[in-house]
Amino acid sequence: QTPVTDYETGGAPRLITPYGDVRARRLVLAGEAYSQQLPKLRRTLVPMYSLIVLTEPLSESDWEQIGWRNRELVSSSRMSVDYLNRTADGRILFGGRGAPYHMHSVIADGLDRHEPTHDMLRQMTVEWFPMLKDVRFTHAWGGPLGMPRDWMPTTAYDAATGVARAGGYTGQGVATANLFGRILTDLIRGEVTALTQLPTVNHCSPRWEPEPLRWLGIRYAQEGFARLDRDAERTGKTPTGRTLVERIGRH
Ligand SMILES: Cc1cc2nc3c(=O)[nH]c(=O)nc-3n(C[C@H](O)[C@H](O)[C@H](O)COP(=O)(O)OP(=O)(O)OC[C@H]3O[C@@H](n4cnc5c(N)ncnc54)[C@H](O)[C@@H]3O)c2cc1C
Repeated sequence: QTPVTDYETGGAPRLITPYGDVRARRLVLAGEAYSQQLPKLRRTLVPMYSLIVLTEPLSESDWEQIGWRNRELVSSSRMSVDYLNRTADGRILFGGRGAPYHMHSVIADGLDRHEPTHDMLRQMTVEWFPMLKDVRFTHAWGGPLGMPRDWMPTTAYDAATGVARAGGYTGQGVATANLFGRILTDLIRGEVTALTQLPTVNHCSPRWEPEPLRWLGIRYAQEGFARLDRDAERTGKTPTGRTLVERIGRH
């Protein structure tokens, strides 16, 4: 519960908090989307919100009708990204991106909920599964993902400064954070292993643009992807890949 507000590197690395400093031989910075709030890490990542709605537990006959018998993870090819789970207690979890980016990469508890996006996810659940038109939604939440400028996560260790970093998982960090922890172990021990040869090791993503350019670019891309998704649904045709938003969003 103690926020780190800054850190110092070099001979005696330390984390700085409002209550005192924590010294260590090495620092591992792995705060994902939140880490860009530290002055030294500004513009390394932007926080993009991913939001989720959850249905009530479905009946056996609902599952039978849907035909989703196992725990497969499902998603569509929408550019705005969606993902679905059948949870252990028999609900559908429907998640998606598209909640608006906020100027200056703001992260705030209130942004974990965005009613228009949550409503869209509820509507999409029923569009995917029309037999659930009367289903109750019991939960809605969300949180920020850490997005690097080139969509490439980084794990890095600099023995001279004593600082290691891992992050930028673009919303795919559950398994990747475990892998990156193992890579960092090898890097910090100075061992050359198969893991330390991976292309994310010591990768250096470019920084995001200063504001307001960052906000303008990201909001343009978010609106553009949403428009392409709507057009694709209406016409049944996949986007051409030639629109401006697809070209600037390529990674
Ligand atoms: C709604 C949602 C759905 C997702 N779905 C998936 C999914 O299906 N699959 C998947 O792989 N990933 C998913 N993700 C992404 C996944 O949660 C992250 O990639 C993963 O949690 C990253 O792990 P981490 O340990 O690096 O960072 P985090 O889990 O974000 O942990 C960082 C920790 O650092 C702490 N911290 C940060 N800054 C400071 C500071 N200054 N001082 C003190 N403490 C600090 C935070 O409090 C936090 O505890 C989802 C994320 C969200 C929000």
